[in-house]
Amino acid sequence: MSSNDPFGTTGLADAGSVTHTPRMATSIRDLTKEYVLKSETVRALRGVSFDVPEGDYVAIMGPSGSGKSTLLNILGGLDHVTDGQVWFRDLDLTDMSDRQLTRYRRDHVGFVFQYYNLVPSLTARENVQLVTDVAPDPMPAAEALELVGLSTRMDHFPSELSGGEQQRGAIARAIAKRPEILLCDEPTGALDSTTGVQVLEALRDINDRFGTTTVVITHNAEIRRMAHRVIYFQDGKISRIEENDTLLAPSEIVW
Ligand code: ADP
Repeated sequence: MSSNDPFGTTGLADAGSVTHTPRMATSIRDLTKEYVLKSETVRALRGVSFDVPEGDYVAIMGPSGSGKSTLLNILGGLDHVTDGQVWFRDLDLTDMSDRQLTRYRRDHVGFVFQYYNLVPSLTARENVQLVTDVAPDPMPAAEALELVGLSTRMDHFPSELSGGEQQRGAIARAIAKRPEILLCDEPTGALDSTTGVQVLEALRDINDRFGTTTVVITHNAEIRRMAHRVIYFQDGKISRIEENDTLLAPSEIVW
């Protein structure tokens, strides 16, 4: 790979193995992921292909162990593929080194996990500043917290915030660097319905306002009605993809 080709995309046109559509935020082709353990090989993803258009809000559903988190980790550059191809826009993530993936994550990706992972000894604002201090073009921490409805709570410590508020703080931290893609693994999994709806509203608002491509893993069947696209996983494969023409507002969702 040449030094002026940090993402290894040179020669892509010659590769001939993928039809790439630039309007897509991510494209995945024939993706497989195997975990090789001492006594067995776990086939977590077994030939997955799909596209996520720019600005889409995508829900990923399926039983536990069906490969959803594995997929999200690969989309987010947290893990390598075993076979197949993964794109973010015109970046081919497939064979990136760890260093290149770190750079991809830093420059493009926001993550929201089920357990908020806020630093307990820092206020909400300081937690967000951990990101804004190092990102190339961040929004002010206060603005990110205001976007998720936490403007009056930003100088509180995580222990002084409810679960929903902590999760909204984690979303503020994820969006403060203006990521192009937001990846959320069970963001409402630890929340009751009222606070869960507030978190969904925050995610939806960011998707509407900034056009941030958003991929949300969820077990909640109702959430699928607020997504543009719902991808169902079963045994490491996609079993079905649904597209929604009419989206429900988070407040219309019944838990
Ligand atoms: P889901 O998110 O749908 O619950 P996962 O992607 O977490 O599913 O897991 C898919 C399969 O891969 C499961 O059988 C799981 O046990 C296995 N798996 C996930 N991560 C690892 C890992 N780091 N090492 C070994 N096996 C793993």
